[in-house]
Amino acid sequence: MDDQNVIDIDMKGAPACGRCFMLVARYAPQVQAPTGTYHRECYEAWYFGRYGRRPRLNPGDNGSRHLYSVRDQVRDKAA
Ligand SMILES: [Zn+2]
Repeated sequence: MDDQNVIDIDMKGAPACGRCFMLVARYAPQVQAPTGTYHRECYEAWYFGRYGRRPRLNPGDNGSRHLYSVRDQVRDKAA
C-alpha cells in the first residue's frame, strides 16, 4: 500500500545498470560512468575484474551522496 507507492516513485525513470541490467533505484548507491549508469557494487566488481584494483569514486556533492562519479580517466572503449 504505502510501501508500494514509495517503490513506484523511486523506480520511475530509473536507468538500467550497465552490468546486471536491473534498474538502478534513484537513491541507490550508483556510479555515473561515461559508458552508463551502474550500481556501485556492480561497477566496483566490474572494475576490479578488469583492472585488478578498486576504482576511485567521487561521492556526489550537493546532497546526492548516493551518486558517484568516476575519478580515473578510464579508457573503456579503447581497451
Ligand atoms: Zn547492477
